[in-house]
Amino acid sequence: MVRERGRRPSPFEEELRDVEAMRLSPWMPGFLAPEGTYSGEYLQDHAPVEEHETVVGHAVRAMYLYCAAAEIAKPGDPLHLALERCWKNLTNKRVYVTGGIGPSEHNEGFTRDYDLPNRTAYAETCAAVGLAFWGRRMLELTGASRYADVMERAILNGALSGVSLDGTLYFYTNPLESHGEHQRVPWFGCACCPPNIARLVGSLARYAASISDEAFWLHFPAGMETEVEVHGEPVRLSIKSDYPWSGEFSLEFESDTPEDFEVRVRVPDWCESGLQVLSGQDPAQVENGYAVFRGPWRKGDRLEAGLPMTPKWLSSDSRVLDNAGRMCLARGPLIYCLEERDLGSAPQRFVSSRFEVPSVGWKPELLQGVNVLRVVGTLDPATEGEVPYRTSKGEANEEVFADLVPYFAWNNRGPNAMQVWLRS
Ligand SMILES: [Zn+2]
Repeated sequence: MVRERGRRPSPFEEELRDVEAMRLSPWMPGFLAPEGTYSGEYLQDHAPVEEHETVVGHAVRAMYLYCAAAEIAKPGDPLHLALERCWKNLTNKRVYVTGGIGPSEHNEGFTRDYDLPNRTAYAETCAAVGLAFWGRRMLELTGASRYADVMERAILNGALSGVSLDGTLYFYTNPLESHGEHQRVPWFGCACCPPNIARLVGSLARYAASISDEAFWLHFPAGMETEVEVHGEPVRLSIKSDYPWSGEFSLEFESDTPEDFEVRVRVPDWCESGLQVLSGQDPAQVENGYAVFRGPWRKGDRLEAGLPMTPKWLSSDSRVLDNAGRMCLARGPLIYCLEERDLGSAPQRFVSSRFEVPSVGWKPELLQGVNVLRVVGTLDPATEGEVPYRTSKGEANEEVFADLVPYFAWNNRGPNAMQVWLRS
């Protein structure tokens, strides 16, 4: 399928002439042959995958195709190089800060570079899940942490926002701004997103860690107890953490390992200070973004370490027009947002005024327990009136505090305006 996609004659082009098939998919001709000629971009059928330069078409379809391609690619072969080009295009120019992808409702997919509107972001839940799928396969192909950086961001933000905290309501689309019109619902006529979230959450361990012949790879320190097979022998270990609320974790071996067994811990792109070892040996080296701890390990051996999570302000490439004059906040792998109910006013009125490091507060009663980030800013004077425009009289702005919550947890307290990129 991967090798055939994009070659001519295309089976999809033939399908366009099949009256019965088009009766079942009456929307298809509009995507595949918008000007009367077959393009195939919607299905990534515009060119053989080895020749792809950018991500185009339906976002979920693209992710699934590139997952399959990554599974058969060999390091350095033409297929791998094409995947690298598309990955670079996607992650440099076509991804939301939440890991959401595919801005357009029209094709449920990609448009052009830096076209990332916030309020109308389509950013289908399945597309963020698909990005996590593809990221994991690129990670397996290369062993490079930069794929895990994107994978983790997509899982914990743009994908996880697709489900309510109680697991009963779902988003199909995941905008980064709302005026209160966007609500999760119990189900969809096209119900792809709910089971996609279910299988992602159900298989989270496969994204947090993996095993190779010589190493246990910890991509992010989710708490776990696991038994892995090393050279045919079982190795048991456990990880204790409060991730992603804290970056500190302990890893303890509950059985001996072979002599040459390594533990490789990812140093995320968001962790500028690097992995801090609190107890145990220092890493022998950092390779491809992973701190390498050499064995052998004996039962009872522990590694205690931390990934410092200082909150930070992020700015955007100026070509993302929606984000002009705006900043957003992140702490560790989580992107934060401001909800109306935490400000007492529409977040669109909030202007952050001090870019000091926000204070972090643990709120056990809020949203099943989250860290909030407190920032200082001003509120634009209320300007609601009969006419949309008026002469500015330079009214003084009122100074306020705002508590931001993790993006994945928004819209769990009823209809509510929200904004990720704050005016600054
Ligand atoms: Zn979906």
